[in-house]
Amino acid sequence: MHEMAVTEDIMRIVTEHAAQAGAEQITDIHLVIGDMSSFVDDSIQFYFDLLSPETVAEGATLHFHRVEIRFRCRACGAEFSPDGMDWRCPKCDALGGKVIAGKEFYVESIEVT
Ligand SMILES: [Zn+2]
Repeated sequence: MHEMAVTEDIMRIVTEHAAQAGAEQITDIHLVIGDMSSFVDDSIQFYFDLLSPETVAEGATLHFHRVEIRFRCRACGAEFSPDGMDWRCPKCDALGGKVIAGKEFYVESIEVT
C-alpha cells in the first residue's frame, strides 16, 4: 500500500513545480524507478487516477523510466547487472556487491502547458 504515499508525494512535487512555473495544466510526468524498488507502475497509475482529478495534474500521462539493478563487486570492483536472481560477479564469482543503481525513485521532469 505504500504506492499511495509515494503517489501523494508525486502529486505534491508536481503541483508545486507547476505553480512555480505558472502552468495551467500538467501534460506529462516522467518518473524514474529503480528495479530494486518495489513500486509497481500499475499501482502508482491507479492512485494517480484517484488523486489527480480536479488538480493541475488531471489528465497528465505518467511515464515510467526503469533503471536496472547494478552492482559493484566488493572483491574485484567490476560493475555488473545481475542476471535474474543470480547475483554473482561475472568476473570473479563473488556473490553480490554494493548496489550502485536500481534503488532510484524520483520525479525526473514534468511537461506543462
Ligand atoms: Zn568480482
